[in-house]
Amino acid sequence: MNFEELKIVPQLIEALKKMNIEKPTEIQVLSIGKIAGNHNAAIKSQTGTGKTLAYLLPLIKKLMSGEKDDQIIVLSPTHELASQINTVANDLFAKAGLPMKSLLLIGSTNISRQMDQLKKKPSILVGSPGRIAELITQKKIKAHKVKTIVFDEADRLLNDESLSQIKAMCKSFMRDIQMIFVSATMNDETLKVAGSLTQNIVSINAQTGQTPDNIEHIFFHTDDEREKFKILRKSINALNIEKALLFMNKNEDALKISERLIHHGINAADFHSAKDKLERQKTITDFRNGDIKILVVSDLAARGLDVSGLTHVINYNLPDDATQYLHRTGRTGRADKKGIAVTITAGREKKLLLSFAEKTGFVLKQKDIREGVVIDAI
Ligand code: AMP
Repeated sequence: MNFEELKIVPQLIEALKKMNIEKPTEIQVLSIGKIAGNHNAAIKSQTGTGKTLAYLLPLIKKLMSGEKDDQIIVLSPTHELASQINTVANDLFAKAGLPMKSLLLIGSTNISRQMDQLKKKPSILVGSPGRIAELITQKKIKAHKVKTIVFDEADRLLNDESLSQIKAMCKSFMRDIQMIFVSATMNDETLKVAGSLTQNIVSINAQTGQTPDNIEHIFFHTDDEREKFKILRKSINALNIEKALLFMNKNEDALKISERLIHHGINAADFHSAKDKLERQKTITDFRNGDIKILVVSDLAARGLDVSGLTHVINYNLPDDATQYLHRTGRTGRADKKGIAVTITAGREKKLLLSFAEKTGFVLKQKDIREGVVIDAI
């Protein structure tokens, strides 16, 4: 199957070629026709499999064949993911030579400037539920012009404090609005909530297993929690890590560990919700540009972020559940590139990690480091 057979408009196929994207991924093959056919859809596919383009490509086609001021909303649980989706959309428009725009609508930016930009009638609005709901209430976004709403990382959007806001927002849309729910970890609870927002949802499921097989999962174990940092330092050298996300469970630990790494001459920075939004933006840009080697993060970075050339994801602490483990480790091994997920366990964490592997079906290997070389643990 190719993009021509999926009836993607020629300008977009040209744009994809400029992005070195020649062949659709499985989820794109399965989703594009359904979305172009105006179905409501719940799309489940592993991390890094091209879900963003799976909905953007057919939706841009829908915009091109609709009224000039039709709009599409993409909701995202984090500012960073919203910003990334907005960049992909604008990049597509520019490379395709289409006179359309995508606008980022997030809370940290000046609302009156956003209102001015809305007057130019951007085709795609990407943002956080809070800010978008506010702009709909103030009638700066005309709800009846919105033809499709996408819930990116739907299980998170429909599962926290934004749910009541989303429900209220959905009441202002036209009855026939198309709704698309996307996630790597769509659960029954999310599908139930989705079913309360709209009907006739087509389920599209591309995954054979839940875990991408281009990610290798390894772990180092110690009985003593205090040994973890030493193992981390050794593993950064032994594994030849070029660019990695290092996950911590607490914001304050992210700051502490990044300072300790810097103290040992390792190029690191912290990135978490306690950090100022502008600083966060700068840090992520520096990381994308390769100016930071180890980004020490909280779970804020676990969803959707697509950083090219990410060789490793390291868990310094184990997340609470297997779903979160999949989101964290899914930041590497994207678009068929190889990636390595490393976890450093202490005490009872080992048992928990083994249970994640069993539950979600990934192959997990215990390793040791001897004289600077990674070997299989006996
Ligand atoms: P996503 O899952 O949407 O975050 O996409 C993950 C990565 O895959 C991004 O870097 C995309 O640019 C890339 N990608 C998306 N679709 C394709 C495709 N058909 N072929 C190759 N790479 C792709």
